[in-house]
Amino acid sequence: LSRETGKSEVMFFSKELERKIKQKIEVEGELKKAIENNPEEFYLEYQPIVDLKTLKIEKLEALIRWNSSKFGKVYPDFFIPIAEETGMIKDITDIVIDKAVSQLQEWKSKGIETKISVNISPSEFKDKNFVDRIKTKIPEEFRNYFALEITENVLFEHTQSSIDKLKQLTDLGIEILLDDFGTGYSSLTYLKKFPITTLKIDRAFVKDIPDDKENRGIVMTIIKLARLLVVRSLAEGIETKEQLIFLRKSGCQYGQGYYFSKPKNASEIEKVLKKGFTDHEQFD
Ligand code: C2E
Ligand code: MG
Ligand code: MG
Ligand code: MG
Repeated sequence: LSRETGKSEVMFFSKELERKIKQKIEVEGELKKAIENNPEEFYLEYQPIVDLKTLKIEKLEALIRWNSSKFGKVYPDFFIPIAEETGMIKDITDIVIDKAVSQLQEWKSKGIETKISVNISPSEFKDKNFVDRIKTKIPEEFRNYFALEITENVLFEHTQSSIDKLKQLTDLGIEILLDDFGTGYSSLTYLKKFPITTLKIDRAFVKDIPDDKENRGIVMTIIKLARLLVVRSLAEGIETKEQLIFLRKSGCQYGQGYYFSKPKNASEIEKVLKKGFTDHEQFD
């Protein structure tokens, strides 16, 4: 009997694996079609980043979505890893940057001024021409309104050449934020050499504060580390007023999360920008 159970588990796992592989191949094919023939299936949602002292919107993070004819609205975790593996990430990055630039242009023509922060996959830094691509894509007048979010894994390989690329980007006026901080492997030695303006504290640590003692300690330590490195601290994934109160008390300067606003499409976020504030509860 136990042998039988063993067999059926093997069957179950291989079926599950087969299903996953099939799905991956399908997503890959659909992704390729969308990039080549229907790039308009991709669009950006924007989430406000808020100054925790004044509660004013400081900038927006752009987050890609894919309105796939096959899968419906899908989120980046579903297709970005596949795009990274297959090299299609380069095309995705191009699409995202073009969209962010047009958005800045449109908002400028309407008298709305904001900064946009765009996520860049670590593998993009392997591209020798990365900085040139960015330079060609972002007109000079918008470079001061552009930020890029990278993760510590950028430094996993090609450390010095990645730091050089980051420096060239900041020389262009583009701001660099270190995303998902605390989940990677950066050593303090390299961290010091990063030309970054901001440490984004990963959502995993913001979760369950102030109740969770360990997360509380980690968050406070990252805020102190940011101060030591003379960069800003920004907490991701703020969902409650309690989290906000704790973060403010701990000296965290910026935040984003559902408490302030979920990511929204351009026209929805435009209304929020016009007010300058999100719809969170106002308190002191
Ligand atoms: P990320 O850059 O760390 O973005 C934050 C993620 O947390 C977003 O998920 C956002 O919607 C979500 N989030 C924000 N506030 C809250 C909150 O209060 N609670 C919870 N539970 N979640 C919150 P999303 O949009 O699904 O993006 C996931 C990841 O995909 C991003 O993580 C980023 O690494 C990647 N990504 C998104 N857009 C792009 C892109 O254009 N290019 C690349 N290469 N990667 C992207
Ligand atoms: Mg990000
Ligand atoms: Mg993040
Ligand atoms: Mg993340």
